[in-house]
Amino acid sequence: MLNKRLLSHLTISHLPGLGDVLAKKFNQLGIYTIRDLLLHLPMRYEDRSASSAISALSIGEHTTIQGQIVKAEIMMAKKRMLICTIKDSTGIANLRFMNFYPAMKQSMVTGKWIKAYGEVRKGKIYFEMIHPQIQIRDSEQSFDNIEGERYTPIYAATFGLTQNMLRKFIHLALVLLERNPSAEVIPAQYITRFPTLEDALRTLHEPPLDINITELEDGSHPAKKRLIFEELLAYHLSMQITKSHTQKQQATPLHVNNQYITPFLQSLPFSPTNAQHRVVHEIWQDMAKNIPMMRLVQGDVGSGKTLVAALAALNALENNKQVVLMAPTEILAEQHAINFTNWLTPLGLTVSLLSGKLTAKKKRECYEALAAGDIDILIGTHAVFVDKVEFANLGLVIIDEQHRFGVDQRLTLWEKGIKDNCYPHQLIMTATPIPRTLAMTVYADLDVSTIDELPPGRTPVTTVVLPNTRRHEIIERIEQACLTGKQAYWVCTLVEESEILEAQAAEVAFAELQELLPTITVGLIHGKMKPSQKQEVMQSFKKGEIQLLIATTVIEVGVDVPNASLMVIENAERLGLSQLHQLRGRVGRGSAASHCVLMYQMPLSRVTKERLNVMRDSNDGFVIAQKDLEIRGSGEILGTRQVGIANFKIVDLIRDQHLISTIQQASNYLLSDDPQSAYAIVNSWLPDRSKYINA
Ligand code: ADP
Ligand code: MG
Repeated sequence: MLNKRLLSHLTISHLPGLGDVLAKKFNQLGIYTIRDLLLHLPMRYEDRSASSAISALSIGEHTTIQGQIVKAEIMMAKKRMLICTIKDSTGIANLRFMNFYPAMKQSMVTGKWIKAYGEVRKGKIYFEMIHPQIQIRDSEQSFDNIEGERYTPIYAATFGLTQNMLRKFIHLALVLLERNPSAEVIPAQYITRFPTLEDALRTLHEPPLDINITELEDGSHPAKKRLIFEELLAYHLSMQITKSHTQKQQATPLHVNNQYITPFLQSLPFSPTNAQHRVVHEIWQDMAKNIPMMRLVQGDVGSGKTLVAALAALNALENNKQVVLMAPTEILAEQHAINFTNWLTPLGLTVSLLSGKLTAKKKRECYEALAAGDIDILIGTHAVFVDKVEFANLGLVIIDEQHRFGVDQRLTLWEKGIKDNCYPHQLIMTATPIPRTLAMTVYADLDVSTIDELPPGRTPVTTVVLPNTRRHEIIERIEQACLTGKQAYWVCTLVEESEILEAQAAEVAFAELQELLPTITVGLIHGKMKPSQKQEVMQSFKKGEIQLLIATTVIEVGVDVPNASLMVIENAERLGLSQLHQLRGRVGRGSAASHCVLMYQMPLSRVTKERLNVMRDSNDGFVIAQKDLEIRGSGEILGTRQVGIANFKIVDLIRDQHLISTIQQASNYLLSDDPQSAYAIVNSWLPDRSKYINA
């Protein structure tokens, strides 16, 4: 009974008149079930009822006009067309039809009344409408509203699937839903504010003319709020259920014995910051429990997350467990491998890099060593997912820069480590700062620690925003800086996320800068190069042999060359603020004063300029995230897309964040007092998630 909610078990083919061909069209819109169809909400609404005075029309508006027919004529221009001239008390307009039947002309009798809905265009003399929707009547009084007494919903459509078909089948789905209403699942103390689910959907798809349509569009109308509430609740519940599921699992408690940790800390040229200390202790406390740790470490770029990861890893290693560290890119994996090798091999530990690009033989050797327990810590990209990877004794999974991995990928890796019903501990590290309230929802399945302090001795990066008309000046400044022993990055960006095109752009810039700067050693790195080539380039940049490194956004995460103190980002306006912040985090790592030039292509919109100025004015990832949010107001906040939660149908996390604390209460209440309803909500909104929650 419960999974009948929203008719999620019924495919759209159950609707009368919806055959296979049409079903495929719906599938293209991601609509498979009646539930999907019901949740395909209008993008906007049009009022096709009120008519405008002809003299008051403005070009481009969609509206209704009403008047008397003056004449209807067939004209032979390039094509035959029917032109119907009408007048109201204020002026004259033409209705133009390219496709028409003879009967249509005959119905347009001079003196009859006509009502037309369409887009207003500029004609030779009069305003006109091309192919308006029309009604013809004998008298002015006898018109209906063209679309009935309702606003007309406008849906996202696709080729071969018209607005009218969408409206028709959604209407049928609403009727079906109303015949099969589901039990109320929202706790009673909250429903007083909301209509029932059926009423809410009816209002959203077929709003009556007396509704405040702005409220419906901006999410403040109770009908919309009801759905927002449900969807957010479903998401939150699913995260909490996932969390309680993980907390029912077993893990081996791992206690620090300082065998490796003490000598490791002694070998470091610095001591951990207070924030690193605090976070590491939170991690160690989790690892000492017999339930698996599920902890997220948030820390701005450069806050020293790698050291925290190393100290977590050493705890597992002290307990003779293996550790896997997963990074989102090859470059970052390689960089971690270098760091961990330098740090851990003096302690007699074995670090191994498993890259997707290793030869089959090398890979096999790696799998064997891993299964035999000869590798203590394995580092790699998602290549570590492949079936052949088996651990002898995995104790800890570390995922760096998690926003690149979806929740599902994360859980898959975690499940790989299950042995004798024991789960590994899991540590996730992210540099994507998201405001606190959002974090409570987005990371509701995790415990969160924050490194809120940068290591001492960092000088903030000075950022300037310049138009690309000053490119030559900037190139000269790079030359001067490099001649005084500094190192610089030149980052090429693209709108499309295409590694190939981006690589080409970088190659062009490389050739140009090499020619313009003959006294400087210029290097090139991009995603299309072989891992060994990339590593070679990174190594010579690190050693100072390369003075200017032309790069694509592959260097975004994790790359650490403290002597690099200058960065130029070309077409900075193309990137989101979080990405710019990540990139800029590659400089300002040493003691020298660092500079970042955000170069933009003219002309620049006001909002884009404002966003680039945020970068100029702040170096703090959390401040930047908050400002970005304020400027954009809603939509694609930094990170929300990347953290893999963009699949909300109705919720807009920014717009709806004020609901989060209520949602938390409702969610806690349901889980303790009415788990049946909790599962019903999750199953109807997140059917794909149920594999984690039904376990
Ligand atoms: P992120 O948090 O961006 O991953 P990293 O772990 O790469 O930052 O650290 C950035 C730099 O700061 C590295 O060069 C690292 O060696 C250095 N670092 C980390 N912790 C400290 C510390 N406590 N004191 C001084 N330098 C540190
Ligand atoms: Mg890092």
